[in-house]
Amino acid sequence: MSEHIGRPSNINIINSAFLIGMPIIAITSLVYYSINYGIGWFEPIIFVMFYLASGLSITAGYHRLFSHRTHKAAWPLKLFYALFGAAAFQNSVIKWCSDHRRHHLKTDTENDPYSVTRGFFWAHIGWVMIDEGEEIVENVEDLQADKILAWQDRHIFLIGFLTGILLPALVGFAWIGGAHGFLGGLVYGGFVRVVIVHHATFLINSAAHTWGSQPYSTENTSKDSAILSFLTFGEGYHNFHHTFQADYRNGHKWYHWDPSKWLIKAASWIGLTRELHKIPANVIESRKMKKTFNEKVDASEIDTHFQEKFKECLKQLRNAFNDLKKRRKEYKTAKLSKKSESKNNWKAIKQGHKTRIKQCKKRISKARMEFKLLVESMRLNIDKKPVPA
Ligand SMILES: [Zn+2]
Ligand SMILES: [Zn+2]
Repeated sequence: MSEHIGRPSNINIINSAFLIGMPIIAITSLVYYSINYGIGWFEPIIFVMFYLASGLSITAGYHRLFSHRTHKAAWPLKLFYALFGAAAFQNSVIKWCSDHRRHHLKTDTENDPYSVTRGFFWAHIGWVMIDEGEEIVENVEDLQADKILAWQDRHIFLIGFLTGILLPALVGFAWIGGAHGFLGGLVYGGFVRVVIVHHATFLINSAAHTWGSQPYSTENTSKDSAILSFLTFGEGYHNFHHTFQADYRNGHKWYHWDPSKWLIKAASWIGLTRELHKIPANVIESRKMKKTFNEKVDASEIDTHFQEKFKECLKQLRNAFNDLKKRRKEYKTAKLSKKSESKNNWKAIKQGHKTRIKQCKKRISKARMEFKLLVESMRLNIDKKPVPA
């Protein structure tokens, strides 16, 4: 691409050798191991153990905690992320987050380190294999001031080797014993797992900027893909994430597959995480409506009548959501004094709260329905317009 001409490009020998060499080592050792030892329960379990530890350290740790500060975490959890994030061989938290924060600030521009506008391959892996000028580490002063992260940055490759290669081999040895256990841990918990975690993460930069839907914004190439979320601990809801990067969830509905969100939430129950930041439901839904509305407006002349109706829809939705929040809070408070009420009294109180909550939900559904009708009438209006000669 023309804008990249003038930047000196060099192949990064270490990174390229690692990214090409590791899959070769993984496949060769897997074949050798399978011929000599076969496969039982031990191998998949050790794979899953290290896959979860290193994969979640990247998604919940490197990404949602350190890059985006969507919540706070206690030091033992931070240390865990630093140790097992290193095992994923994606560099230190400080360097990873510097790139990632730049990716969000400069998405799809020439300053986006893994911009998909330079092609799928570049966004997936090319940007790691090719150096363009000096490595820039910026906008991470907060992370550089953290003792655990500064220590991890200084010893990243040694830590990665110890937790990502040696540790799985030792766990295998302790479990099964002999060369069988040592090699089984090394191959499944080490080599094969590193390759799979690598490419699953890389897919977020490539596939999640190529395939999927854009329910919240078309300002950049980020897409939502439920399928990708299964491979990446919930990171596939990437259009949502680019729109609301301060949210600790990527799959914001309870049924969205997002194990990183579940881990962060579960950790809060035992005090390992706190101050989990959530974008309010009505803000998320309004954003979705605005996107749909603006698409229709683009296709027609801006009609003030539609604009007014749309504003009214958003107002209704916002008020209904706010009231729902209040009613739920009231119900929660009432539950605290449940014991002081007689059984029958409590039954009536409970019923009253439930009815009021139901009414709010009905108002939300009504606002949604009115928005649907508005979009439909806008569509008919567009269709009615004569095609200019
Ligand atoms: Zn991000
Ligand atoms: Zn992205």
